[in-house]
Amino acid sequence: MIAARFYAPGDLRVEEVDLPTIGKGELLIRNRVALTCGTDLKMFLRGHRLATPPLIIGHEFAGTVEKVGDGVEGFEEGMRVVAANSAPCMSCYYCRIGKPNLCDRLDEVLVGFSSPGAYAEYVRLPARIVKQNTYEVPKDVPLESAAFVEPLACVVHGIELSNIKTDDLVFVIGAGPIGLMHIQLAKIRGARTVVVADASSERLQRATQLGVDQSITSGDPLSQVKALTENRGADVTIEAVGKPETWELAVRATRKGGTTVLFGGCPAGTTASIDTGLVHYGELALKGVFHHTPSDVREALRLISTRQVKVAPLVTHRMKLTEIEAALRLMQKGTAIKVAITP
Ligand SMILES: [Zn+2]
Ligand SMILES: [Zn+2]
Repeated sequence: MIAARFYAPGDLRVEEVDLPTIGKGELLIRNRVALTCGTDLKMFLRGHRLATPPLIIGHEFAGTVEKVGDGVEGFEEGMRVVAANSAPCMSCYYCRIGKPNLCDRLDEVLVGFSSPGAYAEYVRLPARIVKQNTYEVPKDVPLESAAFVEPLACVVHGIELSNIKTDDLVFVIGAGPIGLMHIQLAKIRGARTVVVADASSERLQRATQLGVDQSITSGDPLSQVKALTENRGADVTIEAVGKPETWELAVRATRKGGTTVLFGGCPAGTTASIDTGLVHYGELALKGVFHHTPSDVREALRLISTRQVKVAPLVTHRMKLTEIEAALRLMQKGTAIKVAITP
């Protein structure tokens, strides 16, 4: 089959590789679509601690069941399915205390990182994922939309911890795919006003289509958020960029007693400096959020299937697997929000 394999930072090769073989409890999926993600771009540019080259990357995908491994129940050949790229072990400390998104053994089975990924004609679904995080896609839901289950599950998880209340003003930093999904979920949670800041006017246009009330494209975002809130700051701020400076902005832009959700992962080893007075006297709740639980994955598929969250407008380009490098370059330039890759 054809697959895109990562060899070294900047070296991604589309080449012929062996078809994956599956074992007990596993599924072979024929990929119909895979979505580009900021994490794939980071992998392409910098590599990843879990990646052992040559590695097939790509981790947001949907397709049809090609082969069913021994002992698998509930799936049959030809079924349209979507899966998350991981699944918790359900036996470690964090799984036992009800925090499976923090599972100590998540890295063992991570499609596109520790296990071959989805920028390929076929992908092997490890047993743990088949068992806990694989679902049939409802007939009327396009596979391209279903492929959003994984990133949306992460956003569902972030919103769970965001403490958004009816009538809140929510400030989202970054109008990439993650920010655009946060905007929609904040509205569903009852936020009265959602404000977004991003440097790209194209992205902000999508944000407007998806229900954002106010966009900040230039100037100082902090003073603009303050001006909208009688100088208090946002009730909830969500950082969806992943840079130390936007983490710092997120803390400063939140009102006393508010919640700052730090969603974006910054480069390894970076630090951000936080005004201790703001956090202490302002009783700020700073929430780091990471990944998703099996119930977040279920909820994401429900939100997509019922069209409560619109994911189709996030696909700005459609390209072939052979053009994967060009697709990632479009992500790098900020031209693309998501590229749908077909084999
Ligand atoms: Zn992703
Ligand atoms: Zn675990």
